[in-house]
Amino acid sequence: MARNRVQFQKGYSLVQFMDEYGSEEKCTEALFRWRWPNGFVCPRCESTGYWRHQSRALYQCRSCRHQVSLTAGTILASTKLPLRTWFLAMYLMTQTKNGISALELSRQLSVSYNTAWKVKHKLMQVMKERDDTRPLGGWVQLDDAYWGGQRHGGKSGRGAPGKTPFVAAVELNEEGRPMRMRLSRVGGFRSDEIAAWARCHLEPGTVVVSDALGCFAAVKHVGCIHQPFVTGSGPQSAKHPALTWVNTILGNVKRSFHGTYHHFSSKHLPRYLAEFSYRFSRRFSLREMFPRLAFVALRTPPMPYRVLKLAENYF
Ligand SMILES: [Zn+2]
Repeated sequence: MARNRVQFQKGYSLVQFMDEYGSEEKCTEALFRWRWPNGFVCPRCESTGYWRHQSRALYQCRSCRHQVSLTAGTILASTKLPLRTWFLAMYLMTQTKNGISALELSRQLSVSYNTAWKVKHKLMQVMKERDDTRPLGGWVQLDDAYWGGQRHGGKSGRGAPGKTPFVAAVELNEEGRPMRMRLSRVGGFRSDEIAAWARCHLEPGTVVVSDALGCFAAVKHVGCIHQPFVTGSGPQSAKHPALTWVNTILGNVKRSFHGTYHHFSSKHLPRYLAEFSYRFSRRFSLREMFPRLAFVALRTPPMPYRVLKLAENYF
């Protein structure tokens, strides 16, 4: 039987990772390279000469004497954790197929649960902000989905109480294979919500395939082309061939969440969805996922805990 090339690709082993980033010095060097790919540039005066304080990862501009740490102004700002702890967290979050819970992360990193939670949510925020700048295009399958609420008994499906609505979108290439995906919390399935979502996440001219749920026609307001299919309701509806990929992937998301997490608050659902999508959209290159995440983390602004814990940032 032919092996799936994505599943059987040569990964990035923990042994390789530890060889490359197993010490604080190696992590500092890597972070310096990723932060200043063309050499040090003073954020205040743009001079390139600097001294490094050996005791701390602190760099001082030779011209204006401004001091800057490697992590200042980034999502890692004012961290008390060793860089290698952050690196290992990024490694574990990108190389595990179904993600890793904060509880498991706390065991693997030897840090408290609260610390692991903050690390995980900051890195998920990096993933979210990164993908939020990259709209889907070409052919996109779009569907409505819900998370949480009553799992047993009671009302199920659209509009059941306690369920959190989100949009699932999968971008296909010319051969009809899924390339990237986007999962976004929405306030509800209304035309204004879908139009606002599409403005952020779809390129104009995208061909959108969905079921006949009325609100999806709103993608036309932002220059997309809409092809609705009447799928009917009940279990058969999920089998319509035009929506195969989005339905398959939604099944995977839900299985993955139930398998990895005991529980998480629905107010943080957007970040969990973004983390799953981020890994899926980059699954063709496991090896590259770690350095790319680190690179982007250095370009993501700080987010203090008080904001991190409140945030119900929609799309
Ligand atoms: Zn300077």
